[in-house]
Amino acid sequence: MDIQFLPGVGPKRADLLKKELAVGTVGELLRLYPFRYIDRSSFVRISEARPDMAYIQIKARVVRVDIIEKKRLSVWISDGTGEIELVFFKGIKWVAEKLKPGSEFIFFGKPTAFNGRINMVHPEIDAVPSGAVASDSSSMTGVYASTEKLKNGGITGKVMNKLMEAALERGLQYIEESMPEYLMRQYGLVPLHFAIRNIHFPKDMASLEKARYRLKFEELFYLQLSLLKQKYVRSRADKGIRMPLVGKAFNACYDSLPFPLTGAQKRVITEIRDDMKSGRQMNRLLQGDVGSGKTMVAVLTALIAIGNGYQACIMAPTEVLAQQHFKNIQKFLAPTGVRSALLTGSSKASERREVHNGLEDGSIGIIVGTHALIEDNVVFRNLGLAIIDEQHRFGVEQRSKLWRKAASEAPPHVLVMTATPIPRTLAMTLYGDLDVSVIDELPPGRKPVQTIHATEGKRPALYRFLRDQIALGRQIFIVYPLINETEKLDYQSLEAGAEEIMQKFPFPEYKTAVVHGKQLNEVKKFNMDAFAAGRADILVATSVIEVGVDVPNASVMVIESAERFGLSQLHQLRGRVGRGCEKSYCVLMTGQKMSKESRHRIELMCATENGFELAEEDMKMRGPGDLEGTQQSGLPISLNIASLAKDGLILNTARDCADAVLREDPTLNADRNQLLRKELRKEKYQIKDYSKIS
Ligand code: ADP
Ligand code: MG
Repeated sequence: MDIQFLPGVGPKRADLLKKELAVGTVGELLRLYPFRYIDRSSFVRISEARPDMAYIQIKARVVRVDIIEKKRLSVWISDGTGEIELVFFKGIKWVAEKLKPGSEFIFFGKPTAFNGRINMVHPEIDAVPSGAVASDSSSMTGVYASTEKLKNGGITGKVMNKLMEAALERGLQYIEESMPEYLMRQYGLVPLHFAIRNIHFPKDMASLEKARYRLKFEELFYLQLSLLKQKYVRSRADKGIRMPLVGKAFNACYDSLPFPLTGAQKRVITEIRDDMKSGRQMNRLLQGDVGSGKTMVAVLTALIAIGNGYQACIMAPTEVLAQQHFKNIQKFLAPTGVRSALLTGSSKASERREVHNGLEDGSIGIIVGTHALIEDNVVFRNLGLAIIDEQHRFGVEQRSKLWRKAASEAPPHVLVMTATPIPRTLAMTLYGDLDVSVIDELPPGRKPVQTIHATEGKRPALYRFLRDQIALGRQIFIVYPLINETEKLDYQSLEAGAEEIMQKFPFPEYKTAVVHGKQLNEVKKFNMDAFAAGRADILVATSVIEVGVDVPNASVMVIESAERFGLSQLHQLRGRVGRGCEKSYCVLMTGQKMSKESRHRIELMCATENGFELAEEDMKMRGPGDLEGTQQSGLPISLNIASLAKDGLILNTARDCADAVLREDPTLNADRNQLLRKELRKEKYQIKDYSKIS
């Protein structure tokens, strides 16, 4: 039913609802849930009102009404415990007429502090219900998302409640149940009609809880069902290259490792081995905090491909990172005799030709590179494995180009590595169709990094500390935010900072290298190498060093304007120190004034070094949509009521449920699953496949 035929709507409001809330039908309106509730039965005493309270409700009598310079209406009210001022700037005449001194109302609004007193600006005004409270109506009222335009168009909170009432009366009967009976019974879900009725007008707290659970469950269930179904279909359809051997190269590398693998590394390699020999295509996400030893796993995985007669590529998002990877893997490859090569945008034409030839004739076993790897003129003899680092920086199209370079009989195995810790619930949703391996253990011998927050006044002390560290033979990172590549200001602060450092740490006693994104690649590389080789004591850089550089001798990471960085970026940067055996420090420099969120981020950084904990907190603070590292990929669907941050338990249950359904009936052909099939066809669940490279 079109929304405009609902009493109180009409074409104009219908238009508004469509534009502002994307609601066009009564059914859609009913699926727009309140984001909070007001308990209309509980009142706050005026003497107890505080400015830090959220919305409160006061039942009070009007004492005095003053119109001040025709611009402002001041209304004093009293409930016997105290007086409070209500302030109105709009609709003055109407309000003044309504609020007759001596009459009693219910006022709902946010208490704010003003001139040392508390007042409420533009509270909602309700009549006190006459007699007993209407018996069957609930005391809880839903509050819906709104916009300025909606309010100006007359669709206030109260109007919204009225619309919902009308929609329930006329439209609910046409909404069909969306969960199969047998699953509702098995998972204790209330029927959809009950849920919708109670989500808008909760009969009581218990009914509201049941309604919420059912609606969240449904949403997460279909999301998982859709993702898992893709996975089931794929694992049956996509043949993978069977790689039954471990191979000589793997063993040669393994036997000469300078350290034993951590338990987590061993477990992950076993998981990967099982995938690769299964005859199905591997699609695995490897998560591991900075420094957890993912490179090692990547090398051994590549060597399995080699051992079975295939080539492997390792793709990195930046030139610096590709170089770093290439350099790092050399020492592990030395005992294997496998030929590797590097291919990036800045490879010279002659090198390029040589690499192209080596890939085509198969003499190069492992190729490390950037986007240059997916150019059309790069041809592999028999690519069997693609390892993609920091995958969120690669677009789907770019990955699909890589895919097409596969050995013809079957697609290559895919291992995606990320150091951005993604909370489990989010990983399940973003990569629901990928298998996930986690390295949740750091190599032994890593010392915790002490994280310190300091403001400008502490700068002299900071410099003394840095001199002491340099005297001990350590190296220092100093990082400036570069939020926006084109942001002039960011470069200015970096340049000013670098100048000050060179003044306070004069040459030749101290050597400072500077690296930023505007430098030529050769200059960048020269400076980076100088620091990596220990020829410079201090590296002043923009956040370009965020990915990559491994300088075990660096013991201090100073992050300037730390309040401007996101939590996961701060964590990545901190991961650059603490790699050697020396005690390491991370100093977060901020201004005196910080937003509440910034302060919270800094506090969290000082409190924990666990990337997953930080990611969980980050998600709670900002909501998963904003989670760093996921902006590009985005959430596959927008959730209506469930929250990935808060509903992890429901998500787990919903996932198990979806998994159980598909295990018994992978194609959803059974009679009892016809409803599932139908629901899945809805646009909402048409999830883009983010992982499949096809
Ligand atoms: P990531 O890529 O996950 O950030 P790396 O693979 O760069 O981490 O490893 C970080 C450092 O730890 C490297 O210097 C690496 O050689 C070392 N390392 C890796 N695995 C182990 C291990 N099992 N024991 C000791 N050191 C290790
Ligand atoms: Mg790494």
